[in-house]
Amino acid sequence: MNQPKILDVDIALVDKAISLWKQSELVAIPTETVYGLGADATNGEAVACIYSVKSRPQFNPLIVHVATAEIARQYVVWNDIAESLADAFWPGPLTLVLKRCVNCTISELVSAGGDTIAIRVPAHPIALQLLKAWNGGIAAPSANRSGRISPTTADHVREELGDAIPLIIDGGACDVGIESTVVDCTGPEPIVLRAGAITRAMVEQVTGLASPAPAAPGAQLLSPGQLASHYAPTLALRMNAMNVKANEALLTFGPNPISGTAYQLNLSATGNLIEAAANLFAYLRALDRPEFSGIAVMPIPNEGIGEAINDRLTRAAAPRD
Ligand code: AMP
Ligand code: MG
Repeated sequence: MNQPKILDVDIALVDKAISLWKQSELVAIPTETVYGLGADATNGEAVACIYSVKSRPQFNPLIVHVATAEIARQYVVWNDIAESLADAFWPGPLTLVLKRCVNCTISELVSAGGDTIAIRVPAHPIALQLLKAWNGGIAAPSANRSGRISPTTADHVREELGDAIPLIIDGGACDVGIESTVVDCTGPEPIVLRAGAITRAMVEQVTGLASPAPAAPGAQLLSPGQLASHYAPTLALRMNAMNVKANEALLTFGPNPISGTAYQLNLSATGNLIEAAANLFAYLRALDRPEFSGIAVMPIPNEGIGEAINDRLTRAAAPRD
């Protein structure tokens, strides 16, 4: 049971992981917290596969893993708070939430449609070895099916996902129990969104800034679905549309789209739900323009990752204040 930590892997295995990522495949990798289910963070369809393999019924934003702070700065708007925290705690169990930069190449699905990215440099030597070779961002949530316990050995991952993914890199047992602390660095003061091994006091000490305490003892931290930055279209959204009204924009799905408007986009002309998930947020944004009266959305099958697509659409369609 007590497996030792493994400190490096063969170059051939690194090459194999890189080539699978390039082919939009998923590779499970060890980190110092738990095993991650990794995909090329810039590839929407690969990221959609993460949600699909995990059977996640919702699009929660994912943490992007990179080898260095320099690489992180290619994707986000860097600032002094991020600089001091990264300097002090990277590589390590600290995730920084920062604004997506202009021309950010990370898939919008990683941000679950929001305008921020959660990013970190993990401390596990094998994760670093792989990320250095990759030289970009790998999106990776824990490598378990939704609702199951996070895996801390390669065997756990094999039991849960062995049939579903082509490669699991064995790094031995993870140093269990250290969750990455998630800190929102987008405002004037750092806000701890998820408590972890790096404490609020440590964040305050390193940045020299006060970090607001959670509202009340034991109060819920803001979950990403509640964050104001979470994208919802400005226009009213109508689901399961079988026709389109004058002036509505239209989001279609499948080989037989309804028509009748000048402005329509098809999430997947072949009826592929993975492709649809990869396109969802970018297409909603593209249709969300003041010249339209609303967005009509054709029915999306509520199976597999379709459940997460419908969850997001339902929330976007809900009446707002
Ligand atoms: P996990 O990958 O399972 O360790 O969980 C990722 C954590 O990071 C979750 O608690 C998310 O809510 C949080 N997270 C990821 N991306 C963002 C983001 N853009 N803004 C705020 N929180 C995030
Ligand atoms: Mg998890």
